Amino acid sequence: MAKETIAVNREKFDQVILPVYAPAQFVPVKGKGSRVWDQQGKEYVDFSGGIAVTALGHCHPALVDTLKTQGETLWHTSNVFTNEPTLRLASKLTDATFAERVFFANSGAEANEAAFKLARYYASVRHSPYKTKIIAFHHGFHGRTLFTVSVGGQPKYSDGFGPKPADIVHVPFNDLGAVKAVIDDHTCAVVLEPIQGEGGITPATPEFMQGLRDLCDQHQALLVMDEVQSGMGRSGKLFAYEHYGVTPDILTTAKALGGGFPVSAMLTTNEIASAMSPGTHGTTYGGNPLACAIAETALDTINTPEVLQGVEIRRQWFTEELEKINRHFSLFSEIRGKGLLIGAELKPQYQPKARDLLHAAAAEGVMILTAGSGVIRFAPSLVITEQDIREGMARLSVAVGKVFG
Ligand SMILES: *Cc1c(COP(=O)(O)O)cnc(C)c1O
Repeated sequence: MAKETIAVNREKFDQVILPVYAPAQFVPVKGKGSRVWDQQGKEYVDFSGGIAVTALGHCHPALVDTLKTQGETLWHTSNVFTNEPTLRLASKLTDATFAERVFFANSGAEANEAAFKLARYYASVRHSPYKTKIIAFHHGFHGRTLFTVSVGGQPKYSDGFGPKPADIVHVPFNDLGAVKAVIDDHTCAVVLEPIQGEGGITPATPEFMQGLRDLCDQHQALLVMDEVQSGMGRSGKLFAYEHYGVTPDILTTAKALGGGFPVSAMLTTNEIASAMSPGTHGTTYGGNPLACAIAETALDTINTPEVLQGVEIRRQWFTEELEKINRHFSLFSEIRGKGLLIGAELKPQYQPKARDLLHAAAAEGVMILTAGSGVIRFAPSLVITEQDIREGMARLSVAVGKVFG
């Protein structure tokens, strides 16, 4: 069938897509900066950022330029050959972080899969084949492969898929005593998000983070930070671990890394990387020149004082407006997060209506997200204008009035 004769609308989704999502009723067709347009030409302010992905907004000119230039130069070589963009991006990521080695993949889950495999492999090569325990946290989220969903702390995402990878222990987040009770010399890794994203926008406390570092050192376990959502400037620093003065052994990043183009990375040290050798892990697409060229431009643009320092003032504009809504409707019990990863927790009696608010917001022309149970999440572009924030919040305020007024 010719492309133009297929009716593509929201009803089509229910006929042709695996029913694992329940997308909004409108279909976006175009984006520019922090504005998006649907099939009917209706315009929206985007506070969702494609779930913390489009950190430079939609169709940022520098990213479009790189997409076009590299798209006419070289797309893919496989890992049988290296390429210039992959080497440039890896060099810039290691220069900007604690890390010395990079593994590229295509999604957050794959970067985490690599991280967990590396932690297990390193422990078995350097210490003992019995050093396999992974400690992770309730409400943690690390992706949807079977290993990552098993390390994630939400059994509803891993139940029903058959036997799970073994020796993974979950304890409450920000509870150092609970970690102390289960960590031992058979532990190969402690895995956390510095700011829990999907679980409800909960930052680790400084004492918790430092305590985990100390416990890992004591038991020769690796501290693995999943910065798939919190990384690439979202927190106001390039990576959220910089807020804590605690260095991870392995860090993963994805979402905003390609500004909307699928690419992810796992970062680590020379010492840990040296456990691996050609053939122990890999992926066909990972580190392809097109993805890496785009991510290099995203990194060059985000890792500047101008963008990183702009995050805090934008957070203030958001919280000002949220507090204004709260003075009117007394809706939120807490506004939390770091930088432009903002969670506004609905009071318990309002939490069942979180999804209604999402739909009402879309009807008023603003795209928002939820997280955890009853948390309204904002993960907008890091360069969103003040005008877009004020306008989107005015629309949200109308939606709040319709649902809770
Ligand atoms: C989104 C997310 C993932 C999974 O990334 P995918 O690209 O969907 O595989 C993993 N960890 C965290 C913290 C995330 O927010």
